[in-house]
Amino acid sequence: MTMGTAERTSTPVARGSTRAWELNALCRNEDPELWFSDRTRAIAMALCRSCEVLQECRAAVLHREDGLPKCDRGGIVAGLTGDQRHALETRLKRIPVLPPEAPTRTVPTQPGRPPGEPAPCGTRSAYQRHVRKGEPVDDACRAANARSASQYRRTGTTLPRPMT
Ligand code: SF4
Ligand SMILES: [Zn+2]
Repeated sequence: MTMGTAERTSTPVARGSTRAWELNALCRNEDPELWFSDRTRAIAMALCRSCEVLQECRAAVLHREDGLPKCDRGGIVAGLTGDQRHALETRLKRIPVLPPEAPTRTVPTQPGRPPGEPAPCGTRSAYQRHVRKGEPVDDACRAANARSASQYRRTGTTLPRPMT
């Protein structure tokens, strides 16, 4: 069964699930057809852009449609067409998967962080946690991961360079 047809009976996000953010979805109280008709595509896109849960919605749809072919990604969701969501997934999967962060035995990367405390936003650990949990990724974390990825490409390690 393709999801495209099933989705038409409800709004892009409401599908019997009870995730809290969906209560604030702009599409909850609108005609779902807006998100599934070519004629109203621009309107749906504009509504998504002003929706306060756009990031949550995008993370959720990427998770939900993971691995689906383009043709099975129906309607506008999170301000993206099915093709755009497919392209975004492909792009995200191209980001290099880095080896797990090395233990901080020799060079503590997070001085002062008590053991067991989650890494704060703006670090690669936090980025990885967001991705693992399907959470929206904020700019600070995205930037931290990009920095780590480019350092890894340059130096073969994500550990900070020892002070000289
Ligand atoms: S971003 Fe668009 S599809 Fe997602 S909840 Fe908001 S209005 Fe609905
Ligand atoms: Zn973060």
